[in-house]
Amino acid sequence: MVDGRESVAFCSNDYLGLAAHPEIISAARAAAADYGIGAGASHLILGHSEPHHVLEHALARHVALPRALLFSTGYMANIGAVTALVGRGDAVFGDRLNHASLNDAAILSRAEFRRYPHRDMVALDRMLARSRATRKLIVTDAVFSMDGDIAPVPELVALAERHDAWLLLDDAHGFGVLGHDGRGTLSHFGVSSPRIVYMGTLGKAAGVFGAFVAGEREVVETCVQRARTYVYTTAMPPLLARAVLRSLELMVVEDWRRKHLLRLVAILRAGLARTGWRLLESQTAIQPLVVGDNAGAVSLSRKLAERGLLVPAIRPPTVPVGTARLRVSLSAAHSEDEVRRLTGALTELQ
Ligand SMILES: *Cc1c(COP(=O)(O)O)cnc(C)c1O
Repeated sequence: MVDGRESVAFCSNDYLGLAAHPEIISAARAAAADYGIGAGASHLILGHSEPHHVLEHALARHVALPRALLFSTGYMANIGAVTALVGRGDAVFGDRLNHASLNDAAILSRAEFRRYPHRDMVALDRMLARSRATRKLIVTDAVFSMDGDIAPVPELVALAERHDAWLLLDDAHGFGVLGHDGRGTLSHFGVSSPRIVYMGTLGKAAGVFGAFVAGEREVVETCVQRARTYVYTTAMPPLLARAVLRSLELMVVEDWRRKHLLRLVAILRAGLARTGWRLLESQTAIQPLVVGDNAGAVSLSRKLAERGLLVPAIRPPTVPVGTARLRVSLSAAHSEDEVRRLTGALTELQ
């Protein structure tokens, strides 16, 4: 309900429709009865309880990496991992369209921060070759949050290997959506490398809250010892860890959710193909419709809202100047008819 009007939201990151799943709600309720609500302290003091421990093992197994570490949010995971791994005398190389949390992390690390044009591997290769930094860290969204396109992960791994760098992949929008059983971007490409530091969030497709960093045992142990957003903060409530554990199981068992989501993506793209609207190239749940100027994007968003379709306009500085857009995001919670309502309305409004 928005101001009394029943609306369909096309702007949630609950890509699999798990956020209100009855079994996840039951898991949270039961865990609240067992563990209470608050964790009571940071992980290293007293806050780390059995649900956290079990979940970290399950997450590592789920993404096929040696070890995983829970953080309270994806923002904190990026800040913690980057600042734990690099510092003065080192260099961070980031895609220009990366999420704000990766940029903030690079700045906070005090390493030299270089940005390369979006997905431009030639430019990145050149920057890495010229760098005299002690340690090099490439950071990138695996699925770009405002564009929906996928980073060229195999090429990034090859560059990391050639230039003795680490590669931090932020899979906030790929985890649960891409790959076998929704295991994420690494599974999508079938890549693995000890140079990969993987970050997945648990508040988007997983439908709960929190995040994790996974990778080689030494890398994760470095985060335990040095990631300040892990050490100096209250642990995630154990009931959320239990909820995520149930969510992980449901992602696999209810694989129809991912298939339904992909079908909705196809319906949306086919529905707009013969109109004047152009969606950016994207196979993920994020389907951006670039309008260009801010006023046009806001006006289109308002007209959709009048029809009970909620798609907020995303404007600079969140996206580059001149690329204001409606960031349509789809969810397995949508029906095919709801997506057809959106394409119908956009066809009328072109
Ligand atoms: C949402 C998002 C984050 C932050 O995750 P939270 O758990 O919401 O803090 C980090 N990176 C990307 C690419 C995101 O889209």
